[in-house]
Amino acid sequence: MQSVYLTFDDGPDPQFTPRILDALGAAQMHATFFTIGKHVRRSPELVRRAAAEGHEIGNHSFAHRHPWLISARTAREEVRNGSAVLSEVLGRAPRFFRPPHGRMRACMNDEAQRSGQATVLWDLSAIDWGPLGRAPRIARRLASIEANDIVLMHDGRNEHNRPEELLQVLPALLVSLRERGLCSVALL
Ligand SMILES: [Zn+2]
Repeated sequence: MQSVYLTFDDGPDPQFTPRILDALGAAQMHATFFTIGKHVRRSPELVRRAAAEGHEIGNHSFAHRHPWLISARTAREEVRNGSAVLSEVLGRAPRFFRPPHGRMRACMNDEAQRSGQATVLWDLSAIDWGPLGRAPRIARRLASIEANDIVLMHDGRNEHNRPEELLQVLPALLVSLRERGLCSVALL
C-alpha cells in the first residue's frame, strides 16, 4: 500500500466536517485538516474529534486573510494566533502551516518555522470551489492522484468553497484509492 496525503482546508465546519470524518472513518483512512483559528474557536469539539480519530490538525491562520494584502506584523499575528487557538484546544502545538490561498509570504513561513511548523502546500488541487467546483469535474481531477501526492480539498465553506460537491465524490474516491493500492495518511 502506498501513501497519499488528503488535506481539507478552511474548517472546521459544523455541517461538513463531521460528514468528511465519517467518510474517512468508514474507509479507515486519515487526513490532515488545515483549520482557520476563528472557526476552531466556534467548533472546538470538531477539531478534538478529528484529532482523536487520528487525523493531523494543521494551522491555516486565524482569519484566512490574504497574505499579500496585510502588513508583515498582521501576517505574523495571523500565524501565531491560528496556532495559539489550536494549542489551546488540543493541548499541543500544530506541526504544519498552510498559508491562506496558498500564497507564500516569507515572514509567515518564518513565524511558522520558529514555532516548529513546516509550511505545506499541495501537489494536486480538487478545485472544489467556484464555477469549476462541480462533482463530476472534482471526481475527474481526483482520479489522477498518484502515490505521495498531497491533495488540496475543502471541508469549510469559507468564501466560494463547495464541500457539498466534494462530499458527493469523496466516498467513491476513497474506495478507488484503496483499489489502486493507495491509502490516505495524515502528514508525517
Ligand atoms: Zn484556505
